[in-house]
Amino acid sequence: MDFGFTQEQEMWRTMLQDFTEKEAGREYTRDCDLEKRFPQELWDAGVKQGFLGLLIPEEYGGMGSDAIMYAIFMECLAKYSYEMASVFSVPMFCAMNIVEHGTDQQKERYLPPFIKGEQRFSIAITEPEAGSDASAVACMAEDKGDHFLLNGQKQFSTAAHLPGNIIMMAVRTDKDVVPARNGISVLLVPNDAPGIEVKRLPLIVRRAVGTCSIFCGDAKIPKENLIGELNGGWRVLIGHLELERLAGSAPNVGEAQCCLDDAVEYAKTRVQFGRPIGKQQGISHMLADLQAQLDAVRLLVYRSAWMITQKIPCRREVSMAKLLAGEVFYAIATAAMQTFGGYAFLPESDVERHWRMAKLFTIGGGTSQIQRLIIAREMGL
Ligand SMILES: Cc1cc2nc3c(=O)[nH]c(=O)nc-3n(C[C@H](O)[C@H](O)[C@H](O)COP(=O)(O)OP(=O)(O)OC[C@H]3O[C@@H](n4cnc5c(N)ncnc54)[C@H](O)[C@@H]3O)c2cc1C
Repeated sequence: MDFGFTQEQEMWRTMLQDFTEKEAGREYTRDCDLEKRFPQELWDAGVKQGFLGLLIPEEYGGMGSDAIMYAIFMECLAKYSYEMASVFSVPMFCAMNIVEHGTDQQKERYLPPFIKGEQRFSIAITEPEAGSDASAVACMAEDKGDHFLLNGQKQFSTAAHLPGNIIMMAVRTDKDVVPARNGISVLLVPNDAPGIEVKRLPLIVRRAVGTCSIFCGDAKIPKENLIGELNGGWRVLIGHLELERLAGSAPNVGEAQCCLDDAVEYAKTRVQFGRPIGKQQGISHMLADLQAQLDAVRLLVYRSAWMITQKIPCRREVSMAKLLAGEVFYAIATAAMQTFGGYAFLPESDVERHWRMAKLFTIGGGTSQIQRLIIAREMGL
């Protein structure tokens, strides 16, 4: 058994740590959040480095790397905020649906421009009436011969509004079939297609990248935009969820560690009652407990990444990593808020940003309750 990274992984990590300080540093991250500004400079720098091709096979111009390299990427880039990692990770795992389920023509058409940063992807599964129960999607794609006619609404689609974005949309193509998940398909929907309206939502999280509602009104989407088989969308979405859940847990480790380190530094320097607050057991043991929990989460995350890399089914393991990564990050952010006292509420502390983001991780990409449900089912309950 070996808990260390290989030399290649270690070099990747060191390079990414340097890149993060330079291109996605503390103040830049804070400014993008406060100004609700997309980190375009970071995107440009990352595209130049070829990050978007990390998981794409070499024959399409990518690096053909694996889930462990992806997890390292997420952990490093998310140091000051998950948002900075999600700039790349969301389109990256969407592009993997094309790699795994696309036709040769789709791969040739979409992957090379994606790697060059000329095209982005976002994912739209959630709807007003279909949240945790993703199989209830009702956004209707009627078969009209050479195209689908799209009508309905999508909710909370991250980065759907960005220029050159193609929305990977879960739609209903059979409304009578039982179970309902067998009537879902996945379509590539350009966000500027006639009949598609994308509106940014005023959320307290994801303020830099943005999250949107999407309204589809008689939008004509060509048949060639179908990913995978007609009514075979559930398979595409489930395959995608393992990587999405890894993308929803590896960055927590990076951001939670930064948040905890900041709390430790503050506890060392903030003096009350004649000594640093970190010398009070009420503070020090609280932070020590959380460091122990975070180390355990990190092991769960990298075990999931390893299992995905080895192509070992890991529904249970990736759900355990996602569950604890969200809950432990939220516990850390809450403890950091407590440690910083009133100063926690100032944006300059960075703690309130971590706190907002940590809460999202217990909800987005499958809530903590849904992860427990999956784990329990896998346990035979
Ligand atoms: C900032 C942000 C970005 C997002 N980005 C995307 C995106 O890019 N693409 C996308 O498709 N979606 C996205 N989402 C949607 C996200 O995945 C959903 O919000 C999430 O899956 C929960 O769905 P819901 O909000 O409808 O909550 P609901 O499903 O209505 O759940 C409400 C509460 O009930 C609980 N609950 C529901 N069912 C059960 C059950 N069976 N047992 C126990 N408890 C249950 C939930 O855990 C939760 O606590 C995003 C959300 C946010 C906030």
